[in-house]
Amino acid sequence: MKKGKIITLKEAVLVPELTTNLFSLTQAMQSGAQVISEGKKALVVKMDGQEMRFDCMIKNKSGHLLAAVVKPLGTRKDGWGDEKRVHMNEAHKLSGHKCERTSKFTLEGQGCKVIGTMDPCEACARAKIAQTPVGKLAEEDDMQKGQMIGMDSSGVRTKSLGGREFQNLKLDHGTDMNWSTFMKKKSEVVEDGLNMVNHIKNEVGNIKITFRMDNAGENKKF
Ligand SMILES: [Zn+2]
Repeated sequence: MKKGKIITLKEAVLVPELTTNLFSLTQAMQSGAQVISEGKKALVVKMDGQEMRFDCMIKNKSGHLLAAVVKPLGTRKDGWGDEKRVHMNEAHKLSGHKCERTSKFTLEGQGCKVIGTMDPCEACARAKIAQTPVGKLAEEDDMQKGQMIGMDSSGVRTKSLGGREFQNLKLDHGTDMNWSTFMKKKSEVVEDGLNMVNHIKNEVGNIKITFRMDNAGENKKF
């Protein structure tokens, strides 16, 4: 490194008692650093627009190591180097499954940078179906596999899943198992529901299946 330049190393551990500290070239390169020149006497690494020259030779048993003279200035707590990046999906979980806006707001309030957009959350979709009371039709304990299926579709904001914009979740009240399908149009609920019926018939044979769902148009068609 040229004299006087300040560089921030991320996720670095410094042991002041040691004469030399190891610098992981692999880790640096994984974070975007580039080796711009490599010779017997010097190795130059470029990262975040700064060059770091390893041009001090330290002899050891098998030959020599190249080192850079670095004077530690301290630890950054405030800057970008320490800012925690959290993906939107993770932020949603950390906030206790709040909506996208609230989750983002909560995490940002804790000093995190929220990146990406939210994918449909299976836990949330499941909770929504499970909240619907099963009613007198059957006591939950008596329910057999495939007897009662809760079905609900919800809009997905991102088109990241190959242009699919809806998630249709099916919950088997008997076994507590759930399946989700991503679809482009709500009308695909009909086909998805029929696939579910076939799936149950294959698994447990011909039984009476009750579907529980709200009064949405696509559900009525089904
Ligand atoms: Zn959730």
